[in-house]
Amino acid sequence: MSKIKIAELFYSIQGEGRYMGVPSVFLRTFGCNFKCAGFGMPRGELSTEAEDLAQVVHLYNTYEELPLVSTGCDSYASWHPSFKELSPMLTSDAIADRISEILPFNEWLDEHLVITGGEPLLGWQRAYPDLLNHPKMQHLKELTFETNGTQKLTPEFKNYLDHYIDEIYGREVTFSVSAKLPCSGESWDDAIKPEVVCEYEEVGTVYLKFVVATEQDIADAECAVGAYRAAGFTGHVYLMPVGGVESVYTLNAKNVALAAMKRGWRYSDRLQVPLFKNEWGT
Ligand code: SF4
Repeated sequence: MSKIKIAELFYSIQGEGRYMGVPSVFLRTFGCNFKCAGFGMPRGELSTEAEDLAQVVHLYNTYEELPLVSTGCDSYASWHPSFKELSPMLTSDAIADRISEILPFNEWLDEHLVITGGEPLLGWQRAYPDLLNHPKMQHLKELTFETNGTQKLTPEFKNYLDHYIDEIYGREVTFSVSAKLPCSGESWDDAIKPEVVCEYEEVGTVYLKFVVATEQDIADAECAVGAYRAAGFTGHVYLMPVGGVESVYTLNAKNVALAAMKRGWRYSDRLQVPLFKNEWGT
């Protein structure tokens, strides 16, 4: 039976993107190919908050106890090796059981599943069919992968998703691609992979979601959208304000919304911040 290393598994409201406001189970897998230490920092500088917390990891026993950070990746513990002991390796049976325990009626009704990370399309692609085929997952109809858009689908998983969608009328798979701009601290060549994202469109609904804080970030987003469109990408584009401490950013949420409107793009809020203060497990 397949196993997945799980950083978090919780029930909440989806705060971002296409399913904003929809009650959702979040399965946060462990591991990421990026660090995104540039978020919230002046351009060219990297946050040390995750590394600083890694030095005192012995103070924390659960995700709920971990501090929030205002710079760098806000889900640092889902990929930083120092926090790996907080993330158990669970079988698909154990994950399906836990999901039915946290669903309000103990079965899938109108809720949506978000498989997030970390980066959920790393090696775990081989384990998802076992989980999605589990009897307790049969009534799930809407599934989103929250990905950074750099990982190719394996031929086996792509083939599986094709059948998964066809099997039940109305079943939907979405790829919410949060492509990382230079403000993340990651390099353009590593982060902007139009051919990878275009391949997702062969098996699901795909949209791009750019996290922006300044006019320069929006200019970068325009450049990236040009590259995705040139490769044949047809999906929607969202702009979303950076989370964390708003006072340090040039653009606030309203300005990000205005910038999206001006370009015919969509605006995404981050409802988990006003609703739940972006705490772990929300
Ligand atoms: S890609 Fe996402 S999970 Fe990975 S480091 Fe960046 S923000 Fe964090």
